[in-house]
Amino acid sequence: AVANKTAVITGSNSGIGLGVARELAKAGANVVLNSFTDREEDHALAAEIAKEFGVKATYVAADMSKAEDCRRLITDAGACDILINNAGIQHVAPIDEFPTAKWDAIIAINLSSAFHTTAAALPGMRAAGWGRIINIASAHGLTASPYKSAYVAAKHGIVGMTKTVALETAEEPITANAICPGYVLTPLVEAQIPDTMKEYDMSREDVIKNVMLKRQPSKEFATVEQLGGTAVFLASDAAAQITGTTISVDGGWTAL
Ligand code: NAD
Repeated sequence: AVANKTAVITGSNSGIGLGVARELAKAGANVVLNSFTDREEDHALAAEIAKEFGVKATYVAADMSKAEDCRRLITDAGACDILINNAGIQHVAPIDEFPTAKWDAIIAINLSSAFHTTAAALPGMRAAGWGRIINIASAHGLTASPYKSAYVAAKHGIVGMTKTVALETAEEPITANAICPGYVLTPLVEAQIPDTMKEYDMSREDVIKNVMLKRQPSKEFATVEQLGGTAVFLASDAAAQITGTTISVDGGWTAL
């Protein structure tokens, strides 16, 4: 069901978004990559995917902190059968010291962008008679941690919005679900390991198991390939009756 569909993945020039785009392309989907930059290397990522998997792949620059850019992304994509709302940022600070600008940016990028892209994509999905909306939430969409007020609020918010969209499309061949990753090994996370090793005077293995993955019972990172595979499943025919729910890919985090 994924083959020859067009997938639009927000925030996909690195990390989970890129991993999800690659797995969808491997399954035969055409993909539209996105971030707010417009560099040669961004467009090269799309060209690589096209070559590697024999699909159509393009890159559309659009800033997911801006309502009009979110909506333009869907127009510029040309088609959007599968919408993956993935763009996201983080900021960590106690709530009474949390910068208002950071709060606003996190709510805009991690939550409101999905409202705008979903609103813009739904008419096309209805016209095509098929659609999949997959929101990349987080274990922090279901549980909280201190100092992450904006992120936890945005991720709980996107889980709630996912349920509403599912109900509004329940009688149509369109589904809306959220994937809730635990800690995922992205380049960003990998880059934190050497500093944390120094800070705690610990081995790489100890940093991963006892610091980073303290709350992840499996003591293993989830991978971007596993998240991509979960997205491919949610886009498949087997998942046609899965809507308005969350799938945790968190090594048991939310079971604790
Ligand atoms: P990342 O920093 O590698 O990726 C974030 C992506 O969003 C990048 O492509 C970045 O360019 C893009 N982005 C940032 N601001 C943007 C903007 N204004 N407009 C358009 N694109 C923008 O991080 P990641 O870990 O791959 O995170 C992807 C998503 O997964 C986020 O929503 C994040 O909250 C979620 N997540 C990550 C983890 C993890 O452990 N890495 C865990 C749970 C959830």
